[in-house]
Amino acid sequence: MPFNLQRNRISDIMKTLLPTSTAGSLPKPSWLAQPEQLWSPWKLQDEELIDGKQDALRVSLQEQQQAGIDIVSDGEQTRQHFVTTFIEHLSGVDFENRKTVKIRDRYDASVPTVVGPVSRNKPVFVEDAKFLRQQTKKPIKWALPGPMTMIDTLYDAHYKSREKLAWEFAKILNQEAKELEAAGVDIIQFDEPAFNVFFDDVNSWGVATLERAIEGLNCETVVHICYGYGIKANTDWKQTLGSEWRQYEEAFPKLQQSGIDIISLECHNSHVPIELLELVRGKKVMVGAIDVASNKIETPEEVAETLRKALQYVDADKLYPCTNCGMAPLSRQVARGKLQALSQGAAIVRKELQGAL
Ligand SMILES: [Zn+2]
Repeated sequence: MPFNLQRNRISDIMKTLLPTSTAGSLPKPSWLAQPEQLWSPWKLQDEELIDGKQDALRVSLQEQQQAGIDIVSDGEQTRQHFVTTFIEHLSGVDFENRKTVKIRDRYDASVPTVVGPVSRNKPVFVEDAKFLRQQTKKPIKWALPGPMTMIDTLYDAHYKSREKLAWEFAKILNQEAKELEAAGVDIIQFDEPAFNVFFDDVNSWGVATLERAIEGLNCETVVHICYGYGIKANTDWKQTLGSEWRQYEEAFPKLQQSGIDIISLECHNSHVPIELLELVRGKKVMVGAIDVASNKIETPEEVAETLRKALQYVDADKLYPCTNCGMAPLSRQVARGKLQALSQGAAIVRKELQGAL
């Protein structure tokens, strides 16, 4: 991919007011993996699995394009889980040797153990990204886990320091990100739900490791921070957060100063006070206007209302309508409806803004 072609695609999308995208995963077809379930095992093997993942990617892309989504993704069809699949490809991590840890201070999970120096011996998602690039001329976004969320999904018996391990992962993520960029990815997103939990670490080294992960990139970069998928452990946790969710307040000032281009956060149906967006004024913002923890499909007007509220704090040319988080646990029919609502809701506000010019 010639570099200037990539830049042209990005600047074309900049001309689209309120370009829509999703935060990440979309449901997988039932012939590939058990639907509506995280960490769902594959139903195919070997060559059939490779073909199956590519077919699912094509379907997912087609659904996004059909719904009028402007910045498309692979819908995470080629990975089992947004963090573990990346880690599985690294050396230094033993997947047989598992320990139970508390993920994001919230729920117990059996996780692999770091047993030696971590490294990436070969690209993880680069071939998948090249495949997606061949299928569409639209700008593409690719998601990677962030360093802090990666360490939170492991037991570390080697470095024995969360910070040290995070810096190692940041270096590895940077290698992968540079190759994704060279493969024609326009926007690289780092998923850091852990930023809403470990505030002291975020400020002392979390944002710094993220900046290490984006070092030398020319494409756009995003950090996605959220309250997680609509799974029970997350919805139970949300019950404990009270009527105002001010977690973003802790990380935003540092992120506003960082080299990250775009902040992706959840807004619709969350208890996040919308004025917290003031703290990242100047950044582009992917505004979550679709609730992924509910099967109720938003109306376009509800989406429009969330975007209008966000417009009080985000300049129109910096607002990217998005989903709150990934939609992997939803049914395909619900996810399809939500994609359309997002697109139609953005169209309503786009029209209003253009009428006002
Ligand atoms: Zn999320």
